[in-house]
Amino acid sequence: LTKETGGTSYRFYTSDMNDMAGKRLKLEIGLRKALERGELTVYYQPKMELATNQIKGVEALIRWQHPQRGLVSPGEFIPVAEETGLIIPIGAWVLRTACEQVVRWQKAGLPPLKLAVNLSGKQFSQENLVGMIKQILQETGLSPEWLELEITESTAMNNVAQAIEIMNELKRHGISLSIDDFGTGYSSLSYISRFPISTLKIDQSFIREMIERQDHMAIVKAIISLSKSLQLKVIAEGVEHDQQRDYLEQLDCHEIQGYLISPPVPANDLEKLLRD
Ligand code: C2E
Ligand code: MG
Ligand code: MG
Ligand code: MG
Repeated sequence: LTKETGGTSYRFYTSDMNDMAGKRLKLEIGLRKALERGELTVYYQPKMELATNQIKGVEALIRWQHPQRGLVSPGEFIPVAEETGLIIPIGAWVLRTACEQVVRWQKAGLPPLKLAVNLSGKQFSQENLVGMIKQILQETGLSPEWLELEITESTAMNNVAQAIEIMNELKRHGISLSIDDFGTGYSSLSYISRFPISTLKIDQSFIREMIERQDHMAIVKAIISLSKSLQLKVIAEGVEHDQQRDYLEQLDCHEIQGYLISPPVPANDLEKLLRD
């Protein structure tokens, strides 16, 4: 309860609000230290090609091993990293770490993998994004054709002209782009055809109940057929069951990603998975 100076009005703060603000602040302070303390790590989730049953790529997904709280999910701390601008150094760190790892796998003679890294909106419009990426590729020795950047529809739609320009520049450097969580945003089809992207990733919310819900099945079919018409690769996220896999194969979806194949795992575990 606070009494405003000179007045008689009172404002009430519930303990909930205090808890939320306190939690958020704690998270921010912790996140600032996390990078230097080495608490961040990258997990890798395989993407499997349906025509060959081969793992053709991996998505890098950040994890925070918090000293007290254990594994904190990116859904919780990426928004805070975005708001505070910490996503810029953290994003560069993820890219560098994942590129180094994939180069190590290449040198160890493992089957070649395309590396997908998520870019948030803040990163996408950061100054000199392309320069930062080029430098990391150069320093790690990863050839650009092995790198794919995942952006969401809202990131791409935020400033269409600027987005197309950045995408074209990335493409000129041999880097590919995909639209993540496709179907959940607001992008119009005319823009999708103008973006120099190579892949659409069907959002997992449609895959989850595609068997049980006709409307979701219809959306999955529509996205796959759109991809075909626009000559884009299409990948389904969040595939957990054989039945989903079988349908997606029938529908000519190119790749699947999800717990059915493997959850995101540490680099060592992914290496084991690739060797077997
Ligand atoms: P996303 O890029 O769409 O990643 C897919 C998310 O779905 C991952 O959650 C993954 O663990 C989860 N997932 C994969 N397969 C399945 C499945 O079969 N079932 C279910 N229920 N979930 C599945 P995660 O790792 O918690 O990441 C959440 C989001 O956080 C990502 O969504 C991405 O938007 C963001 N993110 C993660 N790592 C990074 C990063 O390094 N940079 C940026 N900017 N964002 C990141
Ligand atoms: Mg992604
Ligand atoms: Mg996604
Ligand atoms: Mg997502």
